[in-house]
Amino acid sequence: MGQLDRYCDPGKAVIITDRTIKNLLGKFFCKYRVVEIGTGEKAKTLKTVHSVYEKFLDYELDRTSFVLAVGGGIVCDVAGYVASTYLRGLPFGFIPTTLLAQTDAAIGGKNGVNFKGYKNLIGTFNQPRFVLCDLELLKTLSARELKNGFAEIIKHALIGDAFMLSYLEKEWRRAYELEGTFMEQLLFDSLKVKACIVSQDETEKGERRKLNFGHTFGHALEKIYGLKHGEAISIGMVLAARISVAKGLIDRNDMLRIEKILAHFGLPVEVGIEKDLIMDAIRKDKKREGENINFVLLNGIGNAVVLPISIEELEEMVRDMC
Ligand code: NAD
Repeated sequence: MGQLDRYCDPGKAVIITDRTIKNLLGKFFCKYRVVEIGTGEKAKTLKTVHSVYEKFLDYELDRTSFVLAVGGGIVCDVAGYVASTYLRGLPFGFIPTTLLAQTDAAIGGKNGVNFKGYKNLIGTFNQPRFVLCDLELLKTLSARELKNGFAEIIKHALIGDAFMLSYLEKEWRRAYELEGTFMEQLLFDSLKVKACIVSQDETEKGERRKLNFGHTFGHALEKIYGLKHGEAISIGMVLAARISVAKGLIDRNDMLRIEKILAHFGLPVEVGIEKDLIMDAIRKDKKREGENINFVLLNGIGNAVVLPISIEELEEMVRDMC
């Protein structure tokens, strides 16, 4: 963080952040104009966007200005959206400060906010000029926030890099302890999987859907049981893996490997699912296409496939799994 001025000019840049980060890193911001937003999903709204636009007006930003987000996924999503829309688009960069934001939210060019209770309903596809990941920043994160990020890292291994899963199985403790060199490699490999998928399909017409592995059930579980995103997708990945076994795409041993690596990171692999609630949430899923859900399955570890599954068939499988 001490080298911030190398990446953006304090005279041109405005930092968007939240209170937690301002308290932790504020000493690095003193040369910059700063806009603070609230924390949590409740702050990821058009109301917050509106208040940031007002600050930009006060600061008399012009097209030569630069927007820098320093924070977790919420800060990055809001800042990316504001920057993409103010004055028809200002250049922006991200310094993600949570593991989830470093491995996922800051990568891929999706920016947006929630609307009327629907997550990320309003947004843009627009890439930042840079994403700077500083592993030192992760040291102040709570264990629960770290787990959230590890769930996405494991997802990237499962959908795109079998070798990553094998070395993580052997050396997961080094990741758990945030050991520098190990984490650098792990984060790099994880980003490579996401970047590779996004570069083939930036606006989510096909390939990018693979990134939703574990998310169909995950989103439903998150909503119903109030789980953290990582916890919900952990269970979602186990359920998707079970469906992959039922369809003969992976074997039971693969499924056990998946459950074991998630458990190493303290992520849940079981929940007493209420079938009707889950199916109701899935029927309302915005990614549903008519009677089918484009479901992400594993055709072997490190190889995701997207297959349409009818709501009826899914219902049957959920009934068998519960
Ligand atoms: P978050 O931004 O809410 O951060 C979690 C908490 O950790 C916050 O209270 C924050 O203040 C605090 N925090 C941040 N950095 C810290 C640090 N270094 N030390 C201590 N505390 C710190 O949550 P998140 O998990 O980073 O992001 C979740 C959001 O990301 C969701 O809204 C989700 O929709 C979005 N997301 C977006 C994409 C995308 O492609 N745009 C992808 C995945 C997730």
